[in-house]
Amino acid sequence: MTPRIYDLHCHSTASDGALPPAELVLRAKKNGVTDLALTDHDTVAGINIAQETAAQQAINFIPGIELSCTWNKKTFHILGLNINPTNAELIAGTQGLQQIRLQRAQKIAAKLEKQKISGALEAVQLSAGTGMVTRTHFADFLLKNKHVDSLQEAFNRYLGQSKPAFVSTEWAPLEQALTWINQAGGVAVVAHPMRYKLTASWMRRFLSAFKDCGGLGMEIITARSNPDEIRRALLFAKQFELYGSVGSDFHSPQNQWVELGRLAPLPINIRPIWQLFTN
Ligand code: AMP
Ligand code: MN
Ligand code: MN
Ligand code: MN
Repeated sequence: MTPRIYDLHCHSTASDGALPPAELVLRAKKNGVTDLALTDHDTVAGINIAQETAAQQAINFIPGIELSCTWNKKTFHILGLNINPTNAELIAGTQGLQQIRLQRAQKIAAKLEKQKISGALEAVQLSAGTGMVTRTHFADFLLKNKHVDSLQEAFNRYLGQSKPAFVSTEWAPLEQALTWINQAGGVAVVAHPMRYKLTASWMRRFLSAFKDCGGLGMEIITARSNPDEIRRALLFAKQFELYGSVGSDFHSPQNQWVELGRLAPLPINIRPIWQLFTN
């Protein structure tokens, strides 16, 4: 049997990815991915087309989402994997998050105006189209208009936490987001756990809340994880008896460090989340 290549975290133009869903799936196929989940921020809009393309390419497709959540005033990203994308409660939840995103975008644009940067709201709405408006769209706008020299600089100078255009946001409560995922028949997975920069004691508090809400998994391998991050994520996952997941968090071919399917293998001493994908 040929080995399977899993990638359970990536983005299309339905949120802040550069590729439309069909092109994303074709790229995954070219890279040898056998099992792919599309996990756009707070939307399932890309799933139908991705699923059709995956079927044509004989890729096993797992419908997914990356939900923006708030717990103890901190922002977390929770993946819902193997969800039913037509579930009414989940869709209503994403519509609420879309409103939050629009209101936040207006506030970010107003803060940029104060920095003498105008036209941001119109520009990000145009580039997001019918998709979710994210800070990535603002970063692209700042780069295109030469206010910064890189996307990273856009976050470092304007959009990142405590920078002049940062808008603190109440996303879906953690418990609410997990309810939506579970109602849609999916499994909830903590995305990029090492990116929240939590102390060990906050991480344990967060993971016990996550478990109490019915959370089952943790991303152990992402494209950017180094061996020390993998080791620490694994220890937390095992302590809380979570299943392990792997996902590139691919957004754009322009980022040479992150590629679909180009991931370290999941360590063998943790149960893979895909054991739970029975249907
Ligand atoms: P949002 O959910 O709208 O706040 O946007 C978050 C998205 O911005 C993430 O999913 C990343 O794609 C992107 N992002 C966040 N921080 C950075 C950063 N430091 N550099 C580049 N992209 C970032
Ligand atoms: Mn993103
Ligand atoms: Mn994320
Ligand atoms: Mn992501």
